[in-house]
Amino acid sequence: MDSQIQESSRTNEQNQQREQQPSRKQWSLHDFDIGRPLGKGKFGRVYLAREKKSKYIVALKVIFKEQIEKYRLHHQLRREMEIQSSLSHPNVLRLFGWFHDGERIFLILEYAHRGEIYRLLRKSGYLSEKQAATYIASLTQALAYCHDKHVIHRDIKPENLLLDFEGRLKIADFGWSVQSRSKRHTMCGTLDYLAPEMVENKAHDYAVDNWTLGVLCYEFLYGVPPFEAESQKDTFRRIMKVDLSFPPTPHVSAEAKNLISRLLVKDSSKRLSLQKIMEHPWIVKNASSMGTCSPALKQLDKILMEL
Ligand code: ATP
Ligand code: MG
Repeated sequence: MDSQIQESSRTNEQNQQREQQPSRKQWSLHDFDIGRPLGKGKFGRVYLAREKKSKYIVALKVIFKEQIEKYRLHHQLRREMEIQSSLSHPNVLRLFGWFHDGERIFLILEYAHRGEIYRLLRKSGYLSEKQAATYIASLTQALAYCHDKHVIHRDIKPENLLLDFEGRLKIADFGWSVQSRSKRHTMCGTLDYLAPEMVENKAHDYAVDNWTLGVLCYEFLYGVPPFEAESQKDTFRRIMKVDLSFPPTPHVSAEAKNLISRLLVKDSSKRLSLQKIMEHPWIVKNASSMGTCSPALKQLDKILMEL
């Protein structure tokens, strides 16, 4: 049943060993003390864990091989593991390694102490311009790094954005990402965040992530994604028309709206580049160069205390 996964994991390990001399440590469950559950994913759970020797705290993502086999996702998972472990950036969640036993695959992940941005957004309704700009700048830098390595994430949404102890944004979940130099054709991701060329299943490239930055920037500031609708069909229609409107709220500046409007552009070649996002007056004025934001931290701590 799980021979394919075992085979691919073994090949992975062998490749990694060959690439990283001296040979890479072979982890097992005995190396970790397991703590409280941190969350539930589609195919398993994530636990807080501590590596016994170093006492280093990590998040251990447990995935059941049976589920992966059932949905024929072994290639996707393998790709996720290979891509994420090859990336090293302060705003990309690290994948330190992986191992497996008879039934499960374990991913050793960097622990994101403050959890999902999604939770912060749902609790507080919307974020301040300073918070939103700081997160958008962090994301832009992380995406520039990924694009440089020919990785397109394609599934950036608040649930996949985590915060570390200092409130620094970390992109997680590389399940839908691709590593490629060519234009892609496959359909993936959650509809609300999809660029028109992906909704239409046309060839797409790095600019899909730039579109998503526009969607996220809107959602951070208004609390809802811009093309939200009653049905998937209507969301689809709104994305295709780029049916964008800004509710009359006093807390969002004209500069923020300008940035959003220059990212949510149907023609992908006309979207603002990552470089230009970093130079945009709204980012320059509001983003914290530390990648962390103290009012955001206070708010987060309050939320964590309430749970
Ligand atoms: P889905 O595809 O539905 O998003 P998934 O299988 O990809 O699920 P994850 O999103 O990786 O699972 O993990 C589920 C939840 O566990 C996350 O939403 C988050 O709340 C928590 N979690 C995951 N990884 C970490 C981490 N490294 N540190 C802290 N919490 C985490
Ligand atoms: Mg997820």
